Amino acid sequence: MQLTERIRIVGSGRFGFGLTHHSDCHVYLLDGGSEIALIDAGAGVDPSAILARIERTGLPADRVRRLFVTHAHADHAGGAGALRAGLGVDVLASPEVAAILRAGDERAASVDVGKAQGTYDADYRYQATEVAGELADGERVRVGNLEVEVVATPGHSTGHTAYLVHDGSRSDLFTGDTLFFGGRIALQSIWDCDLGAHLRSLQRLGEHRFEGLFPGHLTISVSEGERHLGVALDAIDRGGIPAQP
Ligand SMILES: [Zn+2]
Repeated sequence: MQLTERIRIVGSGRFGFGLTHHSDCHVYLLDGGSEIALIDAGAGVDPSAILARIERTGLPADRVRRLFVTHAHADHAGGAGALRAGLGVDVLASPEVAAILRAGDERAASVDVGKAQGTYDADYRYQATEVAGELADGERVRVGNLEVEVVATPGHSTGHTAYLVHDGSRSDLFTGDTLFFGGRIALQSIWDCDLGAHLRSLQRLGEHRFEGLFPGHLTISVSEGERHLGVALDAIDRGGIPAQP
């Protein structure tokens, strides 16, 4: 599904549009012309459905060079190894997330909690993968005629990263699980969820200008994306905590 001139969605599960396996997050494709990148990988239960969606765009698969991972949770990163194998992409993530991915560390990725919640089936396995590069806060990575800016947003989980994508005329924010439509945030009873860090990450996002809000699940806002961040920041300014989905 094409969302803007440059952005398509090629994966989405039950907390989204049901395009691919039910445990997948939103998987976005960034079309930079000569190069293409993905943001997040889905859970890896049925990566062929995502690969088929990429093929159906008609874009040359050999231009898909990079996979930017927002965080280590399995619905976002469990499919990284499979997409790397299927497309030959370089997997890119923060140092904290890279360590979890390389080890295939199910506990660090809170797969146990996800299974207890029914997000993943009991026999789900979190696949280790090679990570080609570790991304630093503020780093900018070129993808054809796009620029992907790394914004460290820890809080929902360790090493969480948002990506601000600039195409020269507009900027769009990919928030992973840091911010959802309506200004909502996802807190979980997992080892690395840190409310204080999460609130500070939202305030850091407030320093950036963007048009579209492209979260890891639920509704997308192609325009007026800052409106949703504003709702969350208003709650923080009043001494409260933004609502949960
Ligand atoms: Zn998550």
